[in-house]
Amino acid sequence: MQGTPKRLNRRGDMRIEISIAGRYKNRQNVKELFDLYAIRIRRTMKILSREYEVQLPDSILLRPLYVKKGYNPFNGYAQWTRLNGWAIIMNIELCIGMKDKGLWVIDHECVHIAKAIVSGSIRHGKAFEKMYAACRRNEYT
Ligand SMILES: [Zn+2]
Repeated sequence: MQGTPKRLNRRGDMRIEISIAGRYKNRQNVKELFDLYAIRIRRTMKILSREYEVQLPDSILLRPLYVKKGYNPFNGYAQWTRLNGWAIIMNIELCIGMKDKGLWVIDHECVHIAKAIVSGSIRHGKAFEKMYAACRRNEYT
């Protein structure tokens, strides 16, 4: 047992704030995809909070990546800032039209957040893989 177990935020009222601006602002398909991603974030964070006693953050901001020019190879990333707290930034250009891929990217980024909360490290590695596997075991629940 390491340290104090972090308990699930009892009310379970984690907010998912979707922010879509710029070139994606009026695209209905992007809005629909992000609604789906928000549901997935809630589900995956709940699985992780249950299995690893992760205290859910109060909110997670979900927004597209705005590639300034050319191509960005990242499918997405998770980030913490003092201003916004936790955020998941999705590279829509690489995920649109591939629903499953987008959901797997969401799971991956949720694991980064959960791992950072539990261990203080956001990085990949064995512990990361284990947590990601826990999400995937629950794929159809
Ligand atoms: Zn990663």
